[in-house]
Amino acid sequence: MKKHIAVAIDGPSGAGKSTVARHAAQELSFIYVDTGALYRSVGWYVCRAGADPGQASQVEPLLAGLDIRFGYVDGEQHVYVNGEDVGDAIRTPEMSMAASAVSALPAVRAFLLDCQRQIAAENSVIMDGRDIGTVVLPDAALKIYLTASVECRAQRRLLELQQKGIRTTYAQVEQDMRQRDYNDTHRAVAPLRRAQDAVLLDTSALDLQQSIDAVKQLIMKVMEE
Ligand code: C5P
Repeated sequence: MKKHIAVAIDGPSGAGKSTVARHAAQELSFIYVDTGALYRSVGWYVCRAGADPGQASQVEPLLAGLDIRFGYVDGEQHVYVNGEDVGDAIRTPEMSMAASAVSALPAVRAFLLDCQRQIAAENSVIMDGRDIGTVVLPDAALKIYLTASVECRAQRRLLELQQKGIRTTYAQVEQDMRQRDYNDTHRAVAPLRRAQDAVLLDTSALDLQQSIDAVKQLIMKVMEE
């Protein structure tokens, strides 16, 4: 058996990556790393500083004063920005758009790269994001491209936001999702795309447990090799 195993899960917003990855990691005793939370934290910090998350000239000077760390409390990932736990403040629709904007900036991607590679060097991880299999962990033992139709993804995201008490509509969620899909696949640096060696998993017709089981099966096969 390998010492540390890295599993990369990439795909568009709302495909269920984080829920599936979190459950699979828990069941297989891997560390789950939600890299979207890092981009959201940068977006949150930039907005709080009153800067425009889409403007490199406003964002870049702020990075020098920014320290982002992961911590795990009862197996749950927490993100600390300059020592402060950002909690659910990074989960609003506004922070989704801010994350998408800062994530297009090369300086931000470079800033977060080491942090992500470091944690994979020290632990067996299931890491989810947009460029994990293509850029962050190109040698990952297993790469999965998890996707679903845009209608399915918007419906799932709507439910998630409603459960958090965030008021919005299906039309708004779908529009945001299409916009983020466009931003994520068209940016010049590390655009979202399926790595050549990634297994394609479409969860449109699968429920949560079926998606988790499919991912677990793929991981267990790699662990046995
Ligand atoms: O996964 P999540 O929806 O939390 O990600 C928020 C945003 O962060 C995405 O829309 C994407 O623009 C960006 N992101 C990224 N690369 C990653 C993870 C997230 O560009 N590895």
